[in-house]
Amino acid sequence: MEKIMEYSLYIDGAAVPTATHMDIFNPASGALLGACPVAGRTELDQAVAAAGKAFESWSQTPDAARKAACHTMAGVLEKHAEELAKLLTQEQGKPLNGLGSRFELGGCQGWAHFTADLDLPVEVVQDNDEGHVELHRKPIGVVGSITPWNWPLMIAIWHVIPAIRSGNTVVIKPSPYTPLSTLRMIELIAAVLPKGVLNVVSGRDDLGQMMSEHAGIHKIVFTGSCATGEKIMASAAPTLKRLTLELGGNDAGIVLPDVDAKAIAEGLFWGAFINGGQTCAALKRLYVHEDVYDDVCQALAEFAGNIPVGDGLDENMILGPVQNEMQYNKVKGLVEDAVAHGARVLLGANPEDGKGYFYPTTLLADAHDGMRIVDEEQFGPALPIIKYSDIDDAITRANASENGLGGSIWSNDIEQAKKLAARLECGSVWINKHGMIQPNVPFGGVKGSGIGVEFGIDGLKEYTTIQAVFS
Ligand code: NAD
Repeated sequence: MEKIMEYSLYIDGAAVPTATHMDIFNPASGALLGACPVAGRTELDQAVAAAGKAFESWSQTPDAARKAACHTMAGVLEKHAEELAKLLTQEQGKPLNGLGSRFELGGCQGWAHFTADLDLPVEVVQDNDEGHVELHRKPIGVVGSITPWNWPLMIAIWHVIPAIRSGNTVVIKPSPYTPLSTLRMIELIAAVLPKGVLNVVSGRDDLGQMMSEHAGIHKIVFTGSCATGEKIMASAAPTLKRLTLELGGNDAGIVLPDVDAKAIAEGLFWGAFINGGQTCAALKRLYVHEDVYDDVCQALAEFAGNIPVGDGLDENMILGPVQNEMQYNKVKGLVEDAVAHGARVLLGANPEDGKGYFYPTTLLADAHDGMRIVDEEQFGPALPIIKYSDIDDAITRANASENGLGGSIWSNDIEQAKKLAARLECGSVWINKHGMIQPNVPFGGVKGSGIGVEFGIDGLKEYTTIQAVFS
């Protein structure tokens, strides 16, 4: 029998073995993929101590050198892109092609290079007879990064690069569902940095809680569910940690009566089904005006029915399986509940028995508010489509959510769409598209979808504190 690959933690510039491991399986086939080290308090203390020590010199390292190091890390990502993409596909399930693993690795490189080039120069806020005042941006210290399983490598890069660029050191903990690709990626990119600047520990959820409580960690950047975000905030309170929380979403899209249904079908589909819907800012509830409801349903079903779903290592696949059994059962349960409450299946909904967590691309018409799949985040390949007749009512229903990550308006009248977009309670709003993010534009949620932003100068500032210098 082939020996499975054992992975290691990477602490203080060296691979660190652990006494225990947990098995990681390929969600497309159920095959054993590798053994993930399970770290506990001892290994976490070791990583935090190494990061704390490294902070003394990394925070004093000239800015140009830190910028160059971030570009070098981006170069390493490029060199190992294919290796990492294959591992990511086998671990996460997303296909190599489409908006899958190769796309994610491309994003990692693009974000790393862009963030490397951002600067936080000293700002002079006063220079007159009464005095000279400057604002200096100083790194915070040791940053703890806790990541989810949907875009594990890109989200890790979103956390790690701005932290290091601005002079912090990092201990990162990947999701227990997708740890191997992060362990491998961090081992590769950390090797170009002084030892201790970037460390990775893997384990179970309790390791995340230990990080949130740890007195040697000064900031937590977390991407994941709302429930975990609340727990992290509570655990981090006694040590007054800085927090960036990127949490769940239940994004609404609103289609106005003036659209051409066929023309918007592709954009709607990818807005909802990127990564099989396992994306924080995916379109999760679609409100369509009654005049175009049937046309939009039909155009969307035609487009969606032609997208191949299968094992992501097959170069022809565009969508893969749901990442894990818990999420698969959640999506299945929400669809069954919707059908039991009157939703009409346009496509999908009946998963076949077999290997892997394959759930068919599912479109549900005649959905309405009050159904669990409309009110809760499904985070999977099923989209409820809700009919409306009055736009003010649609806006009210879109806003009647604890979440506020993204939203979209679909119309040929851009000015009207912008006015409506401004009324949506969310951090990002798109016109005739959904979910597009860029490294130069701050991204974050309002209401229950989080605290703080990532990306661009505003995102970089979250890894610093201000020191005002009066002279
Ligand atoms: P999750 O909250 O279950 O887990 C995320 C991470 O938190 C994992 O590493 C996990 O081990 C860790 N964790 C679990 N319990 C913890 C605790 N008590 N203290 C500290 N850490 C703990 O989320 P998930 O299921 O991996 O990801 C899916 C969720 O993430 C969805 O709700 C999705 O919308 C959200 N998400 C948000 C964004 C965003 O940018 N806003 C991006 C991607 C995903």
